[in-house]
Amino acid sequence: MTQMYNKVTDEVVAKLAAICGDQYVTTSEPLRHSYMAKGIMGLEAVLPECIVRPANAEEVSKILVLANEYLIPVTPAAGGLSGGFALPAIEPGGIYMDMTRMNKLTVDTENRVMVVEPGVKSGDAWRIFKTKYPEWAPPIPDGAPPAATVLGDAIERGFSLVTGVYGPQADMIMGLEVVLPTGETFRTGSWALDDAKAFYRWGVGPNPDGLFLGSQGSMGIITKCAIKIVPHPHYKTVVAYGGETWDDIVRPAWEISKHELGIAERTVMVQGGNYELVMTRWPKENVPIDYEFYKKIGIDKKWMNYECWAWSKEELDETLKGIDKIYKDYEVREKRTLPQQSLHPKQIASRLKKPNKIAIPYSLWQAGFLFITWYTPWLESSAMMEEYCAAMENYGFPPTMWVASIDHARQAIVMPILCFDSTEPGIFDKIREFNLETTRSFLKKGWVNYRPDPFVHAPETFSKTKEYYKMLVKFRKVLDPNLILHPGRLAIPWESVTDLPNPLNE
Ligand SMILES: Cc1cc2nc3c(=O)[nH]c(=O)nc-3n(C[C@H](O)[C@H](O)[C@H](O)COP(=O)(O)OP(=O)(O)OC[C@H]3O[C@@H](n4cnc5c(N)ncnc54)[C@H](O)[C@@H]3O)c2cc1C
Repeated sequence: MTQMYNKVTDEVVAKLAAICGDQYVTTSEPLRHSYMAKGIMGLEAVLPECIVRPANAEEVSKILVLANEYLIPVTPAAGGLSGGFALPAIEPGGIYMDMTRMNKLTVDTENRVMVVEPGVKSGDAWRIFKTKYPEWAPPIPDGAPPAATVLGDAIERGFSLVTGVYGPQADMIMGLEVVLPTGETFRTGSWALDDAKAFYRWGVGPNPDGLFLGSQGSMGIITKCAIKIVPHPHYKTVVAYGGETWDDIVRPAWEISKHELGIAERTVMVQGGNYELVMTRWPKENVPIDYEFYKKIGIDKKWMNYECWAWSKEELDETLKGIDKIYKDYEVREKRTLPQQSLHPKQIASRLKKPNKIAIPYSLWQAGFLFITWYTPWLESSAMMEEYCAAMENYGFPPTMWVASIDHARQAIVMPILCFDSTEPGIFDKIREFNLETTRSFLKKGWVNYRPDPFVHAPETFSKTKEYYKMLVKFRKVLDPNLILHPGRLAIPWESVTDLPNPLNE
């Protein structure tokens, strides 16, 4: 049976105000809708009943104890820009915990770590480093809006500006401070020891931090995070090479990225796409959709960008020479033509700008857009993109595709961007069908979805990973016996989201 929750009553609102102060609690309908508007990609989102803005971990803990007492679901959110994943997906919407008042940032350049609270925005972190610590860079998401937070991205195990070398954002974490759904607070890693620095992630025993990363806020609320910072050398540029097929961009990128301890270390970002990616950044009526137009302005059908950071001009030149040589050798060996694109200085500058804002305009094409993301072994990403693009065209979506390397092309993050008209009748059913068809095919090939949708990716994946799912449900019930934290889109446990048949029983 579906998990039952109570609604937020006036009595609960008064108690929340007693914890945080009147001005930090609201049930205002326009304000609640404004939080929904940020999560534009939350296709199954529900309006929260009340917004609360705690100032510290003690207040977070008291709110959770209250929610347990009254059996009310709580959804934590930082920037709320992870695509609707920070919105409640269940009825009633309950308490939305906006963490943005907690926005302290401290930097320790000696131990190369910074401590962020949940409200530290990527744009602010970048600005502070640029002015105060120009020799260091905070690992912020490369293309997310500046209001997305460092912690939100780390919780999501996102794609940062140095992910090509350092791995997903969660790999940068050195310690967490967590408030459990029952109200207890603890720290992970060496941080668990009073007064110790967050210098050793594996700290004082088995480290449970993986339970909270990727949990979409369903296992506990993180109130502080220690995260690595990286050196920030200032000889930088971006080079790009084109091609006709996905293999044309994926294979040479693999050869460059696996050149570890060599040119790959200075190639912090390897990411590419197809010409439809350019086309869908404008309103549909305003741009031609025929490739000939893009060809004339020098855009290849597919391309890969390489962003390089080096300590000197010589180092940068050597890196670019190394990349070019790999391309030239590849062209001869494979009998392909893979031209280097001539980038306008403005194109290079806009890529190097952080956060770069390049990914923001997709809603212009037809008003609706949805990022769907998967991980594959790097070399298998070509096959996935081929199949994805064909399916997108089949369903009437432009085949807009983005791909990037994670950790020296050990994995690919593959992201189709569905641009659609949200007023078209039946469009959400069409998206679900598209998702279902591609998900079933991809899971059979061993590819893994990132940020699952609760009614497609989660049940499809968990019905094939039953023992793992059972383990997650077990942990969740230990940490959160009353299932107060909203179940995220992972649907852990299934009955907390829906009374549709449980995928584990199929
Ligand atoms: C146009 C656009 C471009 C993007 N580009 C990128 C990109 O280049 N790289 C990338 O990685 N991502 C990208 N994203 C995705 C997204 O912006 C990032 O994942 C982002 O950093 C999320 O941060 P946030 O503060 O918005 O998190 P939120 O959406 O607020 O939260 C993320 C998740 O964590 C949970 N949560 C929030 N705070 C807490 C907490 N304190 N404790 C426990 N759980 C919590 C939420 O419930 C939610 O499930 C992009 C998004 C958009 C809209």
